Amino acid sequence: MGFFSKDIKTMDDLFVHTLQDIYYAEKRILKALPKMIDKATDSTLKQAFQAHLAETEGHVTRVEEVFRMHGAEAKTVTCPAIDGIIEEAEDIAGDIADKEVLDAALAAAAQAVEHYEMTRYGTLIAWAKRLGRGDCARVLERNLAEEKAADEKLTSIAEAKLNIRAAE
Ligand code: FE
Ligand code: FE
Ligand code: ZN
Repeated sequence: MGFFSKDIKTMDDLFVHTLQDIYYAEKRILKALPKMIDKATDSTLKQAFQAHLAETEGHVTRVEEVFRMHGAEAKTVTCPAIDGIIEEAEDIAGDIADKEVLDAALAAAAQAVEHYEMTRYGTLIAWAKRLGRGDCARVLERNLAEEKAADEKLTSIAEAKLNIRAAE
């Protein structure tokens, strides 16, 4: 089903479609993060990825909760955007031999993922509120807060350490 599929008629359909998109993305990230943990050499970066893997399990559960609250079946719709972001991350990681440069690249790739999630949750929260589902918005806000915190943590690790070592 494409984004402009005629199956999406109402704002409510669009909300559910976008929920299916982030559900796909979160599950895709759950599979990608262990590989990034393996590739990372810096211990702080590894720990940040590990912590976010645990949080991501919670994101999947919260998205399922929103499906349930909204009376919609929890199912995925392929998100070519997250597939592309993760594919790009794997490609670039495969092309870098230097460990320090690789860590900087992994942090940057993870931040691209976080930003995708942030845009989706931001939109879902706005639409949930507009649809009179402040209850759904509140659950989604918890995921958004953790994505933002993960992104900020990666910025500080990169700026305090990874980028400096990579540039040496
Ligand atoms: Fe997430
Ligand atoms: Fe998407
Ligand atoms: Zn995330």
